Amino acid sequence: MAAIGLDDTDSRDRGMCTTYLAARIATRLRERGYGVSRPVLVRLNPAIEAKTRGNAALAIHVDRPNRADRPDQADANADADIKVDETLSVAREAIDAAAETADPNTDPGLVVAPGSNVPPAVAAFSSRAVTDRLTIAAARAACETTGFRYHEWGNGRGLIGALAAVGARRAFSEWTVEHIAYREPERWGTPRSVDAKSVFAAADRGYPEVWDTVDRGEREVVCVPRTPCPVLFGVRGENPAAVERVAAGIESEPIACAETFLTNQGTDTHLREGTIATAEEGRSYRLSGVVASAPETRRGGHVFFDLGSGGSDGGGGGNDGDDTGSSERVDERTEGSRLRCVAFEPTKRFRDRVRALRVGDRLVVCGEVSAETLKLEKFAVRDLVRTERVVPTCPDCGTSMESAGRDQGYRCRDCGTDRDGKVFRWIERDLDVGWHEVPPRARRHVAKPLIRGGFDAPTFPER
Ligand code: ATP
Repeated sequence: MAAIGLDDTDSRDRGMCTTYLAARIATRLRERGYGVSRPVLVRLNPAIEAKTRGNAALAIHVDRPNRADRPDQADANADADIKVDETLSVAREAIDAAAETADPNTDPGLVVAPGSNVPPAVAAFSSRAVTDRLTIAAARAACETTGFRYHEWGNGRGLIGALAAVGARRAFSEWTVEHIAYREPERWGTPRSVDAKSVFAAADRGYPEVWDTVDRGEREVVCVPRTPCPVLFGVRGENPAAVERVAAGIESEPIACAETFLTNQGTDTHLREGTIATAEEGRSYRLSGVVASAPETRRGGHVFFDLGSGGSDGGGGGNDGDDTGSSERVDERTEGSRLRCVAFEPTKRFRDRVRALRVGDRLVVCGEVSAETLKLEKFAVRDLVRTERVVPTCPDCGTSMESAGRDQGYRCRDCGTDRDGKVFRWIERDLDVGWHEVPPRARRHVAKPLIRGGFDAPTFPER
């Protein structure tokens, strides 16, 4: 066995796609008689500024050359049969030929790990590459210590992703798949021809094993990119048979080649546990808190609210039901640290769920923290405020009572009726307890769609 990792070969303006290069390398190695298992497409920390789009890195795992012609050879030497020099030079040539190194922001990295055992330190590097920020020096040092072969172009930043990809199979336990179909090279950069009707029909047949192919709410095809890259479409789901069935149902321009990748997409591997007080920039979290300011729609249609830590207990219940003054209790709960949360305009209907929040609601929010703001990917409503304290109305004439003076309750001037203080009123809430998420069109690659299950409360999946 040997694992080949590669990253940072594409350019935002000039095109290319590291998945395409990995598919090409896999094909070349198969042509040379190597056994190549399903390539791994790993999504790393989505908050890394250097990313072109989705912070992807790729790994190809090669087995010994096909030995059907040498049945006398023993299996014990399987690792020795891998020609590390040969795999390295096949990958290097493919990167040299296709990587967009003319773009000063494209800095490819290539790592070849001989043998079938990836050390635990490399698996730990992979985990941290999804949840944390790493340095090129750390990647280089890890390659040196482990004896991995590597090659770098430009500043070598791609080594970080390349090494993370090599350790991914050991680091992660939850996997999904993506079937990617690639365009004929002469069509790259031209408008894609994909029949939307066939995509919707195939997506409906494949759901819920296959997800995020389309956005039914916005009537949008999600699986076809808009960038100048070689990808025609990518179909994501739970298993190869299901995504390949959906892909086969899509009518389109000719497909040059295709590959089904094993991936950590849709698994939430990027989310760390944390607290509002300690959440750091450039990482993604699952955080508990209490809504501390009313949601506000700002210029551009983005909806903001503050989440408070609610004091040391992490927030009290939203529905107190006693007569001690719920507004005061809300103030008490929202004391402490605060973090701004945002649902951006492209999250469309998800913003209605956010706008339905009220001060005092208890939540768990998930998303990346950057510029001191958590970009919402999903949230769970744990508890809703269901009552509010209001000035009483007169039981005889129905008008609002007036204050009878400091600490003297309320009185109706016309009828003479009175009340000791404010009274509770039930609030109709247009929001359910449970998990709410952004629609497929706004999903982060690594974010887990609710339809995949495994959540700790009722879910309201978007499709
Ligand atoms: P595409 O998805 O289209 O292939 P991309 O979005 O993956 O492109 P890259 O061109 O690969 O973007 O750039 C991301 C760069 O960030 C790579 O050089 C990668 O090594 C580096 N990187 C990835 N994760 C981390 C991390 N956790 N810390 C620091 N650097 C990282």
